[in-house]
Amino acid sequence: MTTFKALVATKGETAPNLAFTDFAESDLMEGDVTVRVTHSTVNYKDGLAITGKAPVVRRWPMIPGIDFAGRVEASDHPGFKPGDLVVLNGWGTGETHLGAYAQKSRVKGDWLVPLPAGLTPAEAMAIGTAGYTAMLCVLALEKHGLKPADGPVVVTGAAGGVGSVAIALLAKAGWHVIASTGRAEEADYLKGLGAAEIIDRNELSQPGRPLGKERWVAGVDAVGSHTLANLLAMTKYGGAVAACGLAQGMDLPMTVAPFILRGVALLGVDSVMCPKPRRLEAWQRLATDLDREKLAVMTTTIPLDAVIETGKAIVEGKVKGRVVVEIG
Ligand code: NDP
Repeated sequence: MTTFKALVATKGETAPNLAFTDFAESDLMEGDVTVRVTHSTVNYKDGLAITGKAPVVRRWPMIPGIDFAGRVEASDHPGFKPGDLVVLNGWGTGETHLGAYAQKSRVKGDWLVPLPAGLTPAEAMAIGTAGYTAMLCVLALEKHGLKPADGPVVVTGAAGGVGSVAIALLAKAGWHVIASTGRAEEADYLKGLGAAEIIDRNELSQPGRPLGKERWVAGVDAVGSHTLANLLAMTKYGGAVAACGLAQGMDLPMTVAPFILRGVALLGVDSVMCPKPRRLEAWQRLATDLDREKLAVMTTTIPLDAVIETGKAIVEGKVKGRVVVEIG
């Protein structure tokens, strides 16, 4: 029997039971491509799955991990052959389909994106779902017609994964980036990524007025709740905020005032079921636009054995930037 190393989660009373085990290849789920996973990452959602703080896992037992990069080992899919380097984000991986924290994964070839030229598998996972989502947010703002000459852009959850990549991408594109963070000690880090101004997240996280002073024309929000409400209330006439996250909360306590009095738009961003053409566009743009030195500055590398403690740390807001998991 062929086995490989995997982190397996079984249903527990309050949190999943987690154990590194030798997993039988014959127990992998249905799919037309088998991938030797070389790298994964720890996203906020992985932290939620590992701690059980939100019902991310919907099939037991589960191998957690929502994204990976690796090399195709076997394929019945016309788009992929053994040896191809690939990236996978979402599609229920680590939620309903056995996921990334393992040396092997079997998935639908339609879920895979070829690793873009110029990116290594490690860099692809330094970007990970957080960075790919940041790119989707930037694309959403661009498709809304916004450009740097229109005014500043605000990025919330700035020192986190989505926030760090969004700052680097927006600064490179010429935006004046206002970074909102609860970690004042990370000001130099954020300026290094390209932030022009740093604001304390407490300015945005309390209940606010229906409309405020117009401070920015665009926003990338990883936080939700009052923060997103205040972002919209302070967005200039005709501007837009791309919303992808809920680090503060899932609620959105606001009025319609920014929409009906300032024509502000709220652009929803989902990475999990995002159609393939948009994924390919996002990964292509990441390969060409993201400064590799900045990516290296925001990245920490850990072995697979460290994903449990890192998953706990990310939901406590203690992880800076991005984490690459070397699967080994
Ligand atoms: P990180 O933990 O890396 O970043 C989140 C950041 O949010 C933290 O670093 C912190 O930034 C800030 N934050 C944390 N707690 C609070 C709080 N209570 N109030 C205000 N700010 C807070 O996570 P990711 O970057 O991986 O993910 C960010 C969010 O985006 C998550 O909610 C995640 O679920 C979501 N997401 C959604 C996707 C989608 O498809 N829509 C895909 C990927 C992520 P700082 O310390 O700078 O204040």
